Amino acid sequence: MKIDQLIVEVTRRCNLRCSHCLRGEAQNRNFNPHYLEQFIKVNEIDYIGCITFSGGEPTLCPDIISQCHKILKRNDVYIDSFYISINGVYPGDKNARKFVRVVAELKYDCDDSSLSFIHISNSQFHRIERSELETFDECKKWIRKLEGIFTFVHLGQENYEEDYLLKQGRNKSGRQVTPEEFEMEENLVKGSFYLNCEGDVVAGCDYSYDTQSEYKICHCDEKVMDSAFMDSALSISEAEVQ
Ligand code: SF4
Repeated sequence: MKIDQLIVEVTRRCNLRCSHCLRGEAQNRNFNPHYLEQFIKVNEIDYIGCITFSGGEPTLCPDIISQCHKILKRNDVYIDSFYISINGVYPGDKNARKFVRVVAELKYDCDDSSLSFIHISNSQFHRIERSELETFDECKKWIRKLEGIFTFVHLGQENYEEDYLLKQGRNKSGRQVTPEEFEMEENLVKGSFYLNCEGDVVAGCDYSYDTQSEYKICHCDEKVMDSAFMDSALSISEAEVQ
C-alpha cells in the first residue's frame, strides 16, 4: 500500500506549556518505534509521500526519530519528503547535536528532499512563551544555528487570528475540527494517518490527546483497510466524487 501522509507522534512530552495547545496537558510518554514497524509490515507499506514527526516537542526525542528512520530504511519504504514542526526551545546540547544529525540523515535519504521542511513556530503564542524562559538567549541561538545549517528551516507566520486556532486541548475557543477525508487513487491512499504514542492509527492530526480515540481507525497491528472507519470514509469520498 502507498500512503500520502504519515504523522508520527514522537512524544507527548513538551518543554513549553502553551495556553493555546491543541494537544492538552503534556504526558510523560514517548513513541515506541516498534509501532511504526508493525504499521508498515501489517499494511505492506512501500511508499510514504511525506512523513511528519510531531509531538509534543520532537527535539526532545531525536533518538526516536532516528530509530523510525532506520525502520523505514530497513523495510525499504520509499519516502519523498519529511516535515518536522518544532517550538524553537533549545533542547539541551545532547538533543540538539542528535537532532541536527538525524535531520541531515533524513534529508540525505528522502527522494524529493526539496519538499522537506523544519518548521519553527513563530506565532505570537510561542514567541511569548519562549521569551519568558530563562534559556531565551539559547533559544535564539538555536534557531539561528538551525537556519544556518539547513536551508529548509522556516520560521512560521508571526501573527494568527485567535479564531484560526482549533478548539481542542487547552484551547477553549476557536474552530471545530474538520474530520480527515480519505481518497483512494489507484494504490495510493490520500489523507493523513496519525500514529500516536498508544500505537493507535488515527484519522488526521488535529486532535488533543484526549479526543484522538474518537477518530481512531485501528491499532497499528491491524490492517487499516479492513477497518469499518476506512470503509465508510472511502465510500463517502467516492460518493462525493460521483
Ligand atoms: S503548542 Fe506545541 S510547544 Fe506548545 S505546549 Fe503544545 S506541543 Fe508544546
